[in-house]
Amino acid sequence: MQARGERPSAEDLERIRAAGRAALIRKWTEDLEAPVAGLVTVEAVRSHLIRWVDRRYGSLSYRLVQVLTGHGYFGEYLHRVAGRETTPVCHECGAPVDTVRHTVTECAAWGPQRHSPTAVVGGDLSLSTIVGAMLDSQRCWDATASFCESVLSHKEASERLREDDPLADPLRRRRLGRRRRQSHLLPPLQ
Ligand SMILES: [Zn+2]
Repeated sequence: MQARGERPSAEDLERIRAAGRAALIRKWTEDLEAPVAGLVTVEAVRSHLIRWVDRRYGSLSYRLVQVLTGHGYFGEYLHRVAGRETTPVCHECGAPVDTVRHTVTECAAWGPQRHSPTAVVGGDLSLSTIVGAMLDSQRCWDATASFCESVLSHKEASERLREDDPLADPLRRRRLGRRRRQSHLLPPLQ
């Protein structure tokens, strides 16, 4: 036991750290079981949870989080959840449904951007594989983050052009005060 005002011992600090980590993992497990987390994230992160929490590198950018959660500039999300598109179609290639999977692994429009993650992660760019690879090496993390940055910034810019089109469906048209756009799209993820 520490007397008041004394610095905690290394042992105490280690105990506090371990308790914090256990609480964090418990919270994450609960969050991932809750429907609000979104199936995409659950599938991708659950099997790597301990390594995810223990990772020593890898910050989560706005655009990387969009890919990990599916809450972002994907036709399916914009149509079904955000109510900002009349259909879930991919505006880049015409595929009927634009999902995270479509964007990351299939859409021909992002072929050039896909080279870098494919070179370091391999041919399988499913989310679960990507998350595993990101935790294996910082190089994979960085390549994936750059891919997300490049592709999602393009998608966001295209969406804005469509919103600004005076002939656009009112659903899609940019609303005044849309400064809160990012917080609207950002999911609760740490
Ligand atoms: Zn496409």
